[in-house]
Amino acid sequence: MLAELQNELSLLAALQKELDQRKVDGLLRQRRLLDSPQAEYIVANDKKYLSFCSNDYLGLANHPKLIAAMQQAAGDSGVGSGASNLITGHHRYHDELERKLAKFVDMPAALVFSTGYMANIGVISALMGRNDAVFADKLNHACLNEGAYLSRAEFHRFPHNDVAGLERLLKTSTAKHKLIAADAVFSMDGDIAPLPEYLALCEKYDAYLYIDDAHGFGVLGEHGKGSLSHFKLQSPRIIMMATLGKAAGVAGAFVAGEQVVIDYLIQKANSYVYSTPAPPALSATLSVSVSLIEQGDDLRMHLRHLIKTLKTNLSLKHWKLMPSETAIQPLVVGSNHAAVSLSEHLQKLGILVPAIRPPTVPVSTARLRISLSAAHTEKDVLQLAKALNEAEKGLTI
Ligand SMILES: *Cc1c(COP(=O)(O)O)cnc(C)c1O
Repeated sequence: MLAELQNELSLLAALQKELDQRKVDGLLRQRRLLDSPQAEYIVANDKKYLSFCSNDYLGLANHPKLIAAMQQAAGDSGVGSGASNLITGHHRYHDELERKLAKFVDMPAALVFSTGYMANIGVISALMGRNDAVFADKLNHACLNEGAYLSRAEFHRFPHNDVAGLERLLKTSTAKHKLIAADAVFSMDGDIAPLPEYLALCEKYDAYLYIDDAHGFGVLGEHGKGSLSHFKLQSPRIIMMATLGKAAGVAGAFVAGEQVVIDYLIQKANSYVYSTPAPPALSATLSVSVSLIEQGDDLRMHLRHLIKTLKTNLSLKHWKLMPSETAIQPLVVGSNHAAVSLSEHLQKLGILVPAIRPPTVPVSTARLRISLSAAHTEKDVLQLAKALNEAEKGLTI
């Protein structure tokens, strides 16, 4: 009994030690307490800020039509799904959303998951097995990697966006089935993966392409259909995933592909099979959100204008915007210290932009991740550009 207690305490003591060390290293992450919807201005830790932090790229997270849709759907479908989809949780609202999403992205079928994280771990671990191989971009989102670990397939990582490096790995692979997994738009860089080249490699080496379009869906392509539409790609070798908590403004994710892939996932993706779906009201809300995305060419035009406004109004000598045509505009500052002090400086001016440090990004490339949204005005972006221009002159880095 006493030994057991000591063991327990030794774990607790180890946890505390690690937390203390993180604090000393300036790496302890803390949550801000939010008291407002996601919008141009947010109230965080009791203060009002102009926010460049959220992935709500089209400004839908606080859209009156979506709020009304959620209220109405809660009224007629309740607030809970009650059971997994395969028991009695597959409400008509979930089904309608899946059909609507599949049609919107021009894919034969779609399956809705409760989060993007669940989708990635569920899909990759279901489709791949021991004799298979997953090929992943080094900068992929963590949950793609975790899906690959769970699958027990061989796991190969190739340098960021490196088509030749990927081909070298594919060429020597003796795996039974091969899956290339990549973010379509990289969340900390804003750049777009060379998807046409990846698809050509899939055809050459009999591989399949799994793309995570968390940051492209709603933003890129015809009517916001996403990165595949941006490149006009269509193939039975492609399986796409997109999250519904970013540009779509709500929560959840979907996977789309050939009917056989979706049928298989319904049987075998454990994070789908053994999990209670999101409330039906959420799916009803998302169906309206998909319509808003489809009709949102003006929002995307405004967003592109804001991106251009930021680029043309920054006049910086040392800090550099990474080449990105998406809503994610990272400003590389270099050292961790410089990135954090710049973020803190902006915060004092009432502007929130997160500093991103290693290990999330490579050493010496600490950055501010500026995330633009159709909810911003041109004036907001000019205010940010002015603050950054003045900060570079005033701060000694
Ligand atoms: C946010 C994100 C996810 C996870 O999606 P959630 O719905 O937030 O769980 C997966 N992949 C990428 C690239 C993301 O940016």
